[in-house]
Order: sequence, then structure tokens, then C-alpha cells
Amino acid sequence: MIARALAEALEQRRRDNLYRQRHQLESAQGPTLVVDGKTYLAFASNDYLGLANHPQVVAAFTEAAVHYGVGSGASHLVNGHSREHHLLEEELAAFTGRERALLFSTGYMANMGTLMALLGQGDLVVQDKLNHASLLDGGLASGAKFRRYLHNNIDSLSKTLTLPGQRKLVVTDGVFSMDGDLAPLPEVAACAEAASAWLMVDDAHGIGVLGETGAGTLEHFGLDQNQVPILMATLGKAFGCFGAFVAGSEVLIETLIQFARPYIYTTAMPPAVAAAARASLRLIQSGHERRQQLQALIRQFRAGAGELGATLMDSDTAIQPLLLGGAERTMAVAAYLEQRGILVGAIRPPTVPAGSARLRITLTAGHSADQVEQLLAALAEALVRYPATATD
Ligand SMILES: *Cc1c(COP(=O)(O)O)cnc(C)c1O
Repeated sequence: MIARALAEALEQRRRDNLYRQRHQLESAQGPTLVVDGKTYLAFASNDYLGLANHPQVVAAFTEAAVHYGVGSGASHLVNGHSREHHLLEEELAAFTGRERALLFSTGYMANMGTLMALLGQGDLVVQDKLNHASLLDGGLASGAKFRRYLHNNIDSLSKTLTLPGQRKLVVTDGVFSMDGDLAPLPEVAACAEAASAWLMVDDAHGIGVLGETGAGTLEHFGLDQNQVPILMATLGKAFGCFGAFVAGSEVLIETLIQFARPYIYTTAMPPAVAAAARASLRLIQSGHERRQQLQALIRQFRAGAGELGATLMDSDTAIQPLLLGGAERTMAVAAYLEQRGILVGAIRPPTVPAGSARLRITLTAGHSADQVEQLLAALAEALVRYPATATD
């Protein structure tokens, strides 16, 4: 009975062009990938600065693995908290200009853990409609009253904040993961403050990339710990490593250590991963040229895609979605590019709203101008071959 129902749901997903499949990578992350034995030019990774396979990061990882071994052996509160973890936390706190930082094993867990530890029945959590799934899931799991406001809409946010709640928390992505646009954080922060609400920003896609020293969207806007008391960011994207952290006041971090269940009841990330992230952090802090190279490629791509008449979104970040409309057209264009040796993300509902299926093209500092030209040439052909239809 259950198996038959599952099979039917899978079949329906196939008919809706929403079935997802995994590729098998046989190479390190980088502008070119070997997938299923074939070499592709790839514009789909979140390794925005090209650090995932950087020799200094790999060396730090290897050296620490020789010293500490592979597994951390236990959770942070038992005996899995190594010196590498601790130094990384201190360095991340200094980097982000916060009192303290706390490592989590993944960003998903950092968001779940933070929201569940800070909120409960009688509280109100207010989230941007386009927030990452882990924030939505954490908000729902917290037991607080859960409301979403219209994307980046301060009026909608401020109205929603008039609802009653003992504690009120506003939550937003810094850079939106599927659209690439920034949250208007100074306005969001002012609105939260006016309602005596706390503000949490998930900067998974801003950390390393935005701001003068790469400290992210908050540095870009010049917002301090009082304006944004809770900063969450991940180490799996521009850092090119794995894991995540939350940064903020002493009392916030101690609260998470004592009460965040996804922090307490999970094995610490391997110490070698923390050591690798420390090496990445140094490269990020001295990575002005990488960020400039990325910005140049973003401008090149937007200008070129604009000439093709493609529908881009309002994004100046490494995330450059190309809107195609229907899931079927999106899959056809992605398949055509793949056949031409180019990999891009094809994003369909339910990850994005129906009718807004898109290619999620991501650029990295590791790409060359020539590779961006190759992408634009293939896109030009694909858009002629698969024009929009009445349903797109
Ligand atoms: C990737 C991502 C996460 C999850 O981080 P992981 O470390 O991959 O679990 C959370 N929030 C946003 C906005 C993300 O893009």
C-alpha cells in the first residue's frame, strides 16, 4: 500500500517535469568538471571564489588530518571540540565584528538550531517569502507563530510585525539564493528595531563575496551587531569548505550552546575541515582581486545576456538566474547546454514559484572571460531553439 502510493507520487513528479536526478562528479570543484566520464564547463557551483580546491586550503586540510585524524569522534559538548574548531570560531568572530561565533555542522542545522532555541509558543517569527528552506523549516519547527512577508517589502514586513508575540524575530536571507538579489537590510533592521524585534540574517551567499574584506552583506551595508544581532553564514559556499556558523553576542552564543539541539546532539565537523576553513578565511581576507575578478565576470555576463534578449533578474551577485518560465522549457534549455558541454542549475518548482522556472547560473572567480563567452554563445543558440511558448 505505502510503496504503491510512493511510486504514484514519483510518477506524478516525472509527469510534471519536476523529477530530480544527481550527477556523479569525478573531479574537484572548478570551472570545468568531469561528470560521468565527460568534461564540462560548469556554472552551477556556490564555490564563488574558487577556494574548494585551492592548494593552500587542501594543504591545511591534509596537514590537520595527519595531526587529528579524520573523525572528530563526538559532539562539541562531549569531547569533539578541537583547538582548530576553537581558533576558527575566534577568527570568525573577529572577521564578522561580532563578540563570538559558534560552529555548526551544516547551515541547515545552524538555522534549525537557532530558531528552535530562540523561539517557542507565544512568540512570533516573521520571514521573507523567499527565505531558504532551512529558515522556513526552523521557523515552523520552533512552535512560534509563523508568518511570511512579501519579498523585500518593508510595508508588508512592518504590517506583519504588528501581530502579537512575546519575542519577535525577523529573519531574512542577506543574498537570496535563487534570485541573487540583496535584502534591503538597513530598512529591514530599522523596521525590526521599531517593533522591538530581533533580526537574523542568513548570509550563506554573501559571506566571502560582498563587503570590502569579504565579511558579507552586513559589511556591505555597514551594519553592526546591535542592528543585526544574529548573523548566520555557511562555510560550504565561498569558503569552499563545509559547515556553518552563527555570530553575535556572548549571551546569544551561550544560549545556543546550552539550548540548540542540532548543535548539542550531533558530531562536530572534522577538525581538518575547520583547519581548511581557517586557510580559506585568510584567502578571503586577502581576496580583493578574486572579488574583483568575480565582479568583472558578472558585468560581462549581464551585458552579454542582455544583448541576447534573455530575461535576467535584478542581481549584481554571482547568482545570475535566467528566467525561462515553464519547467519543460527550462529542462530543454538545460539539456541542450549539457549536450554542448555546459552545466548549469535548472531550478523548478517547488524550489521557486510555478511559472518562474529558471537556469541558476553561478559565476566564480575561477572562471575566465573566455569561458563566460562560451556560455553566452551556447545560450544564444539555446534561446533560438527553444523560444518561449504561451505557457512559459
Ligand atoms: C546553502 C544554504 C544553507 C544551508 O547550508 P548548508 O551548510 O549547505 O546546510 C542555508 N541557507 C542558505 C541561504 C543557503 O543557501
